[in-house]
Amino acid sequence: MFIGHFAIAFGAKRWIASVSLGTLFLACQLADLLWPNLVLMGLEVVEVDAGATAVTPLDFVSYPYSHSLVALGLWAAVFAGVYLLLRQSALSTAAVLGGVVLSHWLLDVVSHRPDIPVTLFGPMRLGLGMWHSVPLTIAVEGVLFALGVVVYARATRARNRIGSIALWALVGFLVVVYFGNLLGPLPPNSAAVVWPAQAMWLLVAWGYWIDRHRKPRR
Ligand SMILES: [Zn+2]
Repeated sequence: MFIGHFAIAFGAKRWIASVSLGTLFLACQLADLLWPNLVLMGLEVVEVDAGATAVTPLDFVSYPYSHSLVALGLWAAVFAGVYLLLRQSALSTAAVLGGVVLSHWLLDVVSHRPDIPVTLFGPMRLGLGMWHSVPLTIAVEGVLFALGVVVYARATRARNRIGSIALWALVGFLVVVYFGNLLGPLPPNSAAVVWPAQAMWLLVAWGYWIDRHRKPRR
């Protein structure tokens, strides 16, 4: 899943208004921010396979440290703990942030074929395979994303013009990238997948930028 993860971040702003949208992006996509680096370090493996699923040509051979339930549970705890220490936030705020980190696992289980590990080293893999259908994927992710953006737009308001422009430009950009990925050519190799995946960090920065120019309505 791609834009569906951002839906969770946008929606979470309504419940934890004090947390920056950039931090929420970092949380919802922590798994996919770690993943390309773990692949580049040789700790996780991805291969290009044109027939993997209708939506993605990627065969996620191994990614227990970024995508298993156990690993993401640990990352969620670390993320929440660090936020709690650095921002002296309420425990409930940190707990919701941890939940946003963990939500990545649940959404990926819905979309991936059964390749998502449960434990770090065990053989169990889960995946409901939504990615076998392009229309279903677009419908589910599209509705989720639209709901998240609406909740966010209603929970916050722009302090200035940048607050509006930066938000709607990001929404448009994510939609364009989403369809670009769906319709784009087959990547020649895994390196052509993981290097561009690092651009996700720019989306996190974009989230911080938006947040500085918007404020909670309440
Ligand atoms: Zn993922």
